[in-house]
Amino acid sequence: MKKLLALLALLALARAAASTQDRAMRPRRVNDRGPLIRVALMTNVRAITLSSPSGLKVLLEREEETAYQTNSIFCRGDLRAEAKTPSPEQSGYRIEAARTPDSRRARKIADELKAKFREPVTTTYDEQEERYLVFFGKFQSEWEASSALRRLGANRRARIIPPEKPRLIAYEGRKQLLVGVRMTIAPADQAENHFGLREASRLSPSRQSAAPIILVGGRPYRGEISLALNRRGLLDVINTLPLEDYLRGVVPAELSPVGFPELEALKAQAIAARSYALSRLGRAEFDLTDDARSQVYGGVLVEHPLSDRAVEETRGIVAVYQGEPIEALYSSTCGGQTENNEAIFSGKPLPYLRSVACALDQEVLSKHEIRSNRRLGQLAAMPSQLIRSYAMLEVLAFKLPRQPSSQYLSGQITPDELLSWIDRAADLIRGSRGGARPHLSTTIRLLDFGRTLASILYPNQEARALIPPADAEYLLYGFGAQDLPRDARAELALLIREGILWPNSGSSFQWRDPIARAYAIEAIARAIELKKPQLQSAMAVSSAGGQLRLPSGQLEIEPGAWLFSRVANQSYPVNRLLIMGGEQLIYHLNAAGRADFIEVEHSKRGASSDRFSRSSRSEMRLGVEELQLRLARAGIRVGQLRDIVIRERGESGRALELEIIGRQGRSTLRGPQIRAAFGLKEDLFAVARDELNGQMIFIMRGWGHGVGMCQTGAYELAREGYTYEQILKKYYTGIELKKIY
Ligand SMILES: [Zn+2]
Repeated sequence: MKKLLALLALLALARAAASTQDRAMRPRRVNDRGPLIRVALMTNVRAITLSSPSGLKVLLEREEETAYQTNSIFCRGDLRAEAKTPSPEQSGYRIEAARTPDSRRARKIADELKAKFREPVTTTYDEQEERYLVFFGKFQSEWEASSALRRLGANRRARIIPPEKPRLIAYEGRKQLLVGVRMTIAPADQAENHFGLREASRLSPSRQSAAPIILVGGRPYRGEISLALNRRGLLDVINTLPLEDYLRGVVPAELSPVGFPELEALKAQAIAARSYALSRLGRAEFDLTDDARSQVYGGVLVEHPLSDRAVEETRGIVAVYQGEPIEALYSSTCGGQTENNEAIFSGKPLPYLRSVACALDQEVLSKHEIRSNRRLGQLAAMPSQLIRSYAMLEVLAFKLPRQPSSQYLSGQITPDELLSWIDRAADLIRGSRGGARPHLSTTIRLLDFGRTLASILYPNQEARALIPPADAEYLLYGFGAQDLPRDARAELALLIREGILWPNSGSSFQWRDPIARAYAIEAIARAIELKKPQLQSAMAVSSAGGQLRLPSGQLEIEPGAWLFSRVANQSYPVNRLLIMGGEQLIYHLNAAGRADFIEVEHSKRGASSDRFSRSSRSEMRLGVEELQLRLARAGIRVGQLRDIVIRERGESGRALELEIIGRQGRSTLRGPQIRAAFGLKEDLFAVARDELNGQMIFIMRGWGHGVGMCQTGAYELAREGYTYEQILKKYYTGIELKKIY
């Protein structure tokens, strides 16, 4: 901690030394609101208007030949500052050849000079002195000017005028207030005095506003504004304010407290932004810009109570590595894995900016697990589709053993069993058991089974209306139709067409063979799903503590529930599921309102902590012509494009080196060139071809450089109960947190 304070003091000193005339402007002390930060709001502007409800204190610096002067004034209205750059003639040494109230005399002298020398001659009128001034020449050095002066001969009171310097001119209304090179402006009611603004406030305390602000081009800021002429003779507009005030305008601009309302994530953002700002302290003209080149700062306009609270509750806390504030880089959405700093930016590897997975830690992940104590026993050896059908009928109160043996399943179904199952199916599908039953013998053949099923599915002889003889013939063709009684053909053909019956013996229908319970179970399950699905579906919101969260509310799970995971359009029984949110669920509730059957389809969003970000996964499709055009614009000419090959990927999978192969050559792109050439928003991508449409598809994950903290990931971690410290330590390897003031 001491070391840090010493470091901050050193930085302040270094800053003061950077400009020797800077004495009056030197920021003071590190108090409990942190050191002063200088943020460039604008650079290279010609003019800017400032104001404050309480008026402005203005301190001006003038830089004269020999003396360095300051003076301060009060400005009640709008203050307009302009950079005045010298005209081309004024930018060299000149000779003032005459100064006269007589315009004719001035013209005469000018004409003489023009005739005698080949140097430029200008005449101007000085309103204050009411004199005409005649200037002559434009010389690179004082020496050249004095030799020209000698050539003028014994000319009256000629003198050398040094080149005009750019000037900063301030106006209040039309009135010119001050001329100088640098200006510091503060609200008149600001009690603090960072830069030696000695002018006491002219307002009585009762008239002072709670939070003094200064409007820069209409936008409110805290602290002070300094205007300085830069090397190009234009204005840099710099906001100087204590770090903690600065952060109030950074945190909400970087991580919206409206879109991401999690206090711990905002605190992590506050500490990252604080650490980053400290790591940038002490640069020549200003420490940071107000945009994504450093970190986005929006001043008072973006402040929000929640982000204010995040800043206040972490006041002075900094992420340090070996005692020094870290360069806490962060980006919007890392795409699932952050990247090593040296892979993206030049410079040496930083031990705290390592590639890490943007995901929950194992022990937190298990919170999202749903378990079942059901043992499948011999059912486990059966085809997965049968297991699912069995599970479905069981939860739908069909009479079935809890632990079926393989003999039971492969055994022949009895007439009693069939009637009980068919009754239950009729209940579910039609709400009644009526309907004419075909006569059942002791052995249930496929033919009998099919007709019995048809009796509940098509009780009004729908098959006769829907399947004319030619269709029955057609559907049953090759499936032993000749063995079937005429009056059964339409029903059986319809069952085949609807996908309820399938070959019971290898690839053929053996209508006279007895059928196994397994076949009956699956066929009845298919019929129910087709005619009247009994299962509900929903999108999972999340899960915690062994319960599911659905949009409709919390869902408890039966300890012996059936759990299925869908893979390649098939459901497979499992005894645990991970529910992260976004999964498509099919479930059944028992009489107690608990889920006893859950089938899950994995969410395409995956499980990374930044999965809910809009940029988590995105696609950009480019036609080959458009692609060639973009490459040509980037100066890559390889002829007709043949392939794009990624030669090197970083630890997170980001493309570091890529080769473009064309008919007339190859070209290799590295690092930032890759994004620039294609116009991609991410380096983490795969390229796929859409041959049909002649397009290349860039499938991207994430948004931003992907180094350091992932902001959308941090938000999700906070929602999962991570503290700001846990969040920061996840993304910044090996850091410590220190309160330095
Ligand atoms: Zn991430």
